[in-house]
Amino acid sequence: MTELLKDKAGLVTAGGSGIGRASAVALAKAGAKVMVSDVSEEGGRETVKLIKEGGGEAQFFKCDVSDEDQVKALVDETVSAFGKLDFAHNNAGINAGQVKIGELDSNDWDKTIKINLYGIFYCVKHQINAMLKTGGGAIVNTASGAGLEGSPNMSPYTASKHGVVGLTKSVALEYGKQNIRINAIAPGATITPAIERWAEDNPEQYNGVLESLPAGEMSTPEDQGNVVMFLCSDLARQINGVTVPIDGGYTAGKLQQ
Ligand code: NAD
Repeated sequence: MTELLKDKAGLVTAGGSGIGRASAVALAKAGAKVMVSDVSEEGGRETVKLIKEGGGEAQFFKCDVSDEDQVKALVDETVSAFGKLDFAHNNAGINAGQVKIGELDSNDWDKTIKINLYGIFYCVKHQINAMLKTGGGAIVNTASGAGLEGSPNMSPYTASKHGVVGLTKSVALEYGKQNIRINAIAPGATITPAIERWAEDNPEQYNGVLESLPAGEMSTPEDQGNVVMFLCSDLARQINGVTVPIDGGYTAGKLQQ
């Protein structure tokens, strides 16, 4: 445990697995009270258990981020449980419709945009309104390397994550003077259940990704969670409106093969 987020309280969406679980654990280890939220009750409650076993403080609240009423209820419940909202990690995202756009089912487009982009909009809107009442705060959105450059066969995902990067920049300009910072992370390939499922289905692409990484390895959820924790802390007080790639150098340029 450190003291970096002592007396701070906030929430994590999609905290029941992968990157969200790792950030919830990192935030709690830094001393924060964490409302762990996920559409999966099982995953979310497991994260709360892990945090409590490590001596931290956490509660679970079920929330599907594509439903604005549920998102508002999550923010209200966090403020009611902890008295304020100092930080939020908006992390829920899916990658439906992994085909060329000419073959894309519109339902996969809608589903992806609804969770990845509307979800971030609902979260940020209600979190900002809560933070304005209690003196400010820090928001971190999970974008992706696919929010910084194009990626074939995942146009809904790429479009949604570019949207997250743009929304993050605009909102940073709107509320800086009210002591609210908002940033995003752009994880590169990170070993989470989602990537493990994808690697199983696409072994050749998986090996190709590994070869293209300057670090020669994928990042871990903990690599991502630690940066989220830093961005939520006052150490990052001059960082606002940026998207931080956490990808071992992948977005720095192309490796000479
Ligand atoms: P994961 O599959 O490990 O976990 C995803 C979690 O999201 C699950 O617990 C699931 O129940 C929850 N979830 C799904 N739909 C939801 C909804 N509508 N509302 C609330 N929760 C919901 O995934 P992960 O790899 O940790 O991904 C987390 C975030 O990181 C996503 O936004 C993803 O796009 C992004 N990301 C991941 C990678 C990677 O390589 N893993 C790379 C770039 C970006």
